[in-house]
Amino acid sequence: MNLVDSYGRKVDYLRISITDTCNLNCTYCSPPFSGRAHLQRAEILSYEELTILAESAVAAGISKIRITGGEPLVRRGAVDFCRMLSGIDGLADLSLTTNGIRLAELAGPLFDAGVRRLNVSLDTLRRDRFATITGRDGLDRVLAGIGRAEAIGFDPIKINTVVMRGVNHDEVAELAGWTCKKPYQVRFIELMPFQNGTGTPHRELYMPIREIMSLIPGINCSRIGQADTSSGPARLCVLPGAIGKVGFIAPLSWHFCGSCNRLRLTADGKIRTCLFSQTEIDLKTPLRNGAAKKELIDIFRDAVQTKSQGHRLNENAFQCSSKRGMYAIGG
Ligand code: SAM
Repeated sequence: MNLVDSYGRKVDYLRISITDTCNLNCTYCSPPFSGRAHLQRAEILSYEELTILAESAVAAGISKIRITGGEPLVRRGAVDFCRMLSGIDGLADLSLTTNGIRLAELAGPLFDAGVRRLNVSLDTLRRDRFATITGRDGLDRVLAGIGRAEAIGFDPIKINTVVMRGVNHDEVAELAGWTCKKPYQVRFIELMPFQNGTGTPHRELYMPIREIMSLIPGINCSRIGQADTSSGPARLCVLPGAIGKVGFIAPLSWHFCGSCNRLRLTADGKIRTCLFSQTEIDLKTPLRNGAAKKELIDIFRDAVQTKSQGHRLNENAFQCSSKRGMYAIGG
């Protein structure tokens, strides 16, 4: 079964946020702890409820699911939930996005539960800077987690780095150089204009992808590939002699809405058809009112038809007016 939206895009990928809480407080992702509006416990769907929705999504045409958050690995039972999902008939791919803080202890159980692909967010290789950006002295734990995931056999391991001018842009070359020693995909991401806690306006922190690329010695821009289904929105290249890959994700400079294949499901059961959606489609109410599977499948199908053509951020002076912060959507 194919899910195709009204612009002819095949939608086969669902990102499920299982919690809006996080064990880090990255300045660019969320307001300070005191300014965060968290979901009440009763609003958050149970794993059984999320599994029913995931099964309905797969029946509607979704074949790839990524688990995200908040930080998914802080929710108790996350590994068991992954196991529940990997048993869904028709689900071809199960992946997870994490900040890596709990990865060293959970990489093995996640692999056993059927997760094969991991994205780890890491914006710096400097311990003090990590603490400044995230509010926690956790770099060693993240690096240990990445090492453990590699040893266990996760492939690919993608490292996601949001580049911010004056914060970590001076580490782009070093992070890219990591791919000469490690088989990772290090992906540089343009900062998106979500509400944040840096106190600095987005336009001052934002660095366009061309400028990010120019910071990497030896890069051959003409050899940078196009995004494809295996790399998602990233355009990849290989540095001379590297065993890993460097990727570039530019939601503003090269927005990839024309090939967007995603839906998002929030921890309280709302479908977002775009990361920057102003509106959400409620699945929790029908689910808790006892809707039949067929009804839930139809809600996914109808939601896909409302997917907008593009995020239009570039037309909107870089303002995102989403009611939820990134930590409550899942990226
Ligand atoms: N806790 C998990 C993690 O750290 O990967 C999953 C959730 S986090 C919201 C998902 C991704 O969103 C992270 O890679 C993070 O860097 C990215 N992100 C958050 N705010 C962003 C922003 N304003 N612009 C670009 N990426 C952002």
